[in-house]
Amino acid sequence: MFRFAPSPNGFLHIGHAYSALCNQKLARELGGRLLLRIEDIDRERSRGEFETAIYEDLAWLGIEWETPARRQSEHFSDYERALENLTGRGLLYPCFCARSDVAKAVGDAENWPRAPDGGLLYPGTCTHLSAEARARRLASGQSAALRIHLDEAVAQVGLRLGWREYGEGPHARDVAAEPSLWGDAAIGRRDIPASYHIAVVIDDALQGVTDVVRGMDLFSATSIHRLLQELLDLPAPNYRHHQLLLDETGVKLSKSARARSLRSLRSEGVCAAQLRRRLGFA
Ligand code: GLU
Repeated sequence: MFRFAPSPNGFLHIGHAYSALCNQKLARELGGRLLLRIEDIDRERSRGEFETAIYEDLAWLGIEWETPARRQSEHFSDYERALENLTGRGLLYPCFCARSDVAKAVGDAENWPRAPDGGLLYPGTCTHLSAEARARRLASGQSAALRIHLDEAVAQVGLRLGWREYGEGPHARDVAAEPSLWGDAAIGRRDIPASYHIAVVIDDALQGVTDVVRGMDLFSATSIHRLLQELLDLPAPNYRHHQLLLDETGVKLSKSARARSLRSLRSEGVCAAQLRRRLGFA
């Protein structure tokens, strides 16, 4: 079972097309099914018009997926249950720090280590708050993220955490997970009872995903995903992280001002078959 899982916070661009086409090609070659998942837990950045555009653009590109697509915003209770499970086992703790508090606590942000997503590693301000202090702050209505006690979580699952990585090819290699790169990452956000990390592992398991095909930009996130899967007793899919397309100046397309949306290409008269060929999918 394969899935393409875009976030409806902008129009799909060529990098998304590459990822969707990789999913389609592998699903066909391996006799698998292809699902579409709308990753819209971020209620501020997600917009209905972008979701509608995802359906239109993928159909134009020639991608077929099973309907209905799973919309993550309709399943917060699934993510919340997993967060409660981990909290109940003492593996998550409430963190009251805003981003600015973290920056202040580390003092010298230039030289403080960062997680693979660029965020400052959590300096531990709320890690050892007393149970009373936590209860008092929660009761007074302060919002809290839920952070993972990383060392305890890693100790609980043991040392040999890793995954089968196929890249874009037919052969797998074993990759050792490095969850410590993330420190005490937020697994529940302050504003919603979910995070990208928890939603993705819960959904991949609930939807029976066996092969996760996505860009290399999420390679490091797989370390934290594997940790969560082990803690929650969820199966480990195969991972197939594909290359990222760069623009003419070498900048990753998703970050690039030059990332042309599929709709703008379409309006310029590019046809889907041309684009598929250009991306190497004849
Ligand atoms: N929703 C994520 C994105 O658009 C992809 C998540 C994934 O494939 O695991 O970048």
